Amino acid sequence: MIRRHRQARRFILRVSGETIKLTIPTRGSARRALLWAQTKADFVEAELARAPFPKPFEAGASYPVLGQERRFVVGGRGLAEVLGGEVRAPLRAAQDPGPSFERAIRHAVKQAVLEDLTAFWSQLGVAPGRLTIRGMKGRWGSCGPQGQTSINWRLAFAPREVLRYVAAHEAAHRIEANHSARFWQVCERLDPDYAELDRWLTEHGRELFAYGRTTRR
Ligand SMILES: [Zn+2]
Repeated sequence: MIRRHRQARRFILRVSGETIKLTIPTRGSARRALLWAQTKADFVEAELARAPFPKPFEAGASYPVLGQERRFVVGGRGLAEVLGGEVRAPLRAAQDPGPSFERAIRHAVKQAVLEDLTAFWSQLGVAPGRLTIRGMKGRWGSCGPQGQTSINWRLAFAPREVLRYVAAHEAAHRIEANHSARFWQVCERLDPDYAELDRWLTEHGRELFAYGRTTRR
């Protein structure tokens, strides 16, 4: 994909997922830009390799869910659930078990986070709030003024302590509704490893969006 950009002073090459974007200044020569881009093949290849491969929810797949490697299986009646080493979808969902697997994981995330949040809320001496599990694109959690907390269900695929840290982070927003030094002090009280876990999310967060996908982008 080639775009012209008024503010661009030079050629810029960006790779996002499987899309390669070449930006050139308004009066720049497209031919020269393409020749230039060809000299960057190594960079493009390395960037493309970084795009996470899709990890679809299919019977037979195994992924880490809430800190434990679990196998996705279809069978039986009842509700979809995360139980022991399995994520199970009922037999009636056999045609397309993906949504049932997702429902099971969201439910398990809600239970796990509610347990963490309840402990953090009580440690901070604030009233229990409401918890919603969501599929936000660009954030891991949020916390409203009355303690309405949202958590991104894809954190299910992060190490368990990362999910707990996000719960601590949102609980800390009950005390400080910002990211000031005081806020981070509250975070540290709830989770002494907060800085390292926050860094894990910055470095690996995008990989979590590969779970449940069937295509690369
Ligand atoms: Zn925050």
